[in-house]
Amino acid sequence: MADRRPARIAALADVIARAGLDGLLLTSAPNIRYITGFSGSSGLAFVSVRGEALVVTDFRYQTQAADEVGDLARVIIESQSLWSALWQHLPSLAYVEVVGFESAHLLHRDFQRLLDGAGPAAVGGSGATRWQWRPTVDLVEGLRERKDADELARIRDAADVAGRALARTLADVRAGQTELAIAGMLERALREEGSEAFPFPTIVASGPRSALPHAATSRRAVARGDFLLLDFGASVGGYCSDVTRTVTIGPPDGEQREVYEVVRGANELATAQVRAGMRGRDADAVAREYIDRRGYGEAFGHSLGHGLGLEVHEAPRLSRTADAVLAAGAVVTIEPGIYRPGWGGVRIEDDVHLDATGTDVLTRFPRDLLVID
Ligand code: ZN
Ligand code: ZN
Repeated sequence: MADRRPARIAALADVIARAGLDGLLLTSAPNIRYITGFSGSSGLAFVSVRGEALVVTDFRYQTQAADEVGDLARVIIESQSLWSALWQHLPSLAYVEVVGFESAHLLHRDFQRLLDGAGPAAVGGSGATRWQWRPTVDLVEGLRERKDADELARIRDAADVAGRALARTLADVRAGQTELAIAGMLERALREEGSEAFPFPTIVASGPRSALPHAATSRRAVARGDFLLLDFGASVGGYCSDVTRTVTIGPPDGEQREVYEVVRGANELATAQVRAGMRGRDADAVAREYIDRRGYGEAFGHSLGHGLGLEVHEAPRLSRTADAVLAAGAVVTIEPGIYRPGWGGVRIEDDVHLDATGTDVLTRFPRDLLVID
């Protein structure tokens, strides 16, 4: 695969220039990974308007950072404080005066360090006035929205891993097992199929608990007549999938089948119609109006979907309030649901790639109602 990072740094340098900055301090780990390749959990990165980059990390990541970053950026290993290393090395970029920071990814404690400017004075600078700090929002996230071929291949792999793990798990699910036991079977299968991590806590919710859109998996034993909802993901090469399927334990009754078919219809309509170039709110409306017309609008209380990539929730959003246009190249979830407290709920979630010509469904697990006997 071609190394995309030089192009990403060049694109970020353009964004930095347009924002009227001389550089950007990166404190979000996924953003640091996207720009520099460094995947450790502890690090700071800096990118200048001229495309010069620094990565500061600690001793634990010495070998990993050298391997992952290579000669793309200057790698600084600091055993005491990442911040003091930054204050020592940043002055070498003498043209840098106005620096952006990621306002959604900076602890207040660390923001205070910027204001104090403790380091610059110590290295002969002009103390707190050496740099002017400016809050920024979504500069790197905006670049991450359009996936390149390598990123798309990883998400596709993660979707395939999730599908295979689900098929294996459902073959072994029986009435009487607890939600936690089923989550354990699913997580084991995810690992064996190649998932490096669980991008978010696996949700297994049964019976009335399936009406909780973000249920915590519990000790409840599943029983005949239940819905069983599984919402989970796989991670491959740092990229996530996010899938939900709902099945019944034993044959569904008429009401269960009706609700299921409404959700399935909404999912299929949206996966067929959502396109790059639509506003997020119009994409959301495709599924919402379908569910509304069938009388279940009140029971679909969350948004239709979200972007997917290095993080399980990223830009863009598909919701009633999302005005932004969906970019060609984005990968998003389509996840309509109907939830009736005390009775149960159904959600069907797929991952789709939006390109210039249409929508490609990455999750290939069937959407027909599966009955576990
Ligand atoms: Zn999900
Ligand atoms: Zn989701």
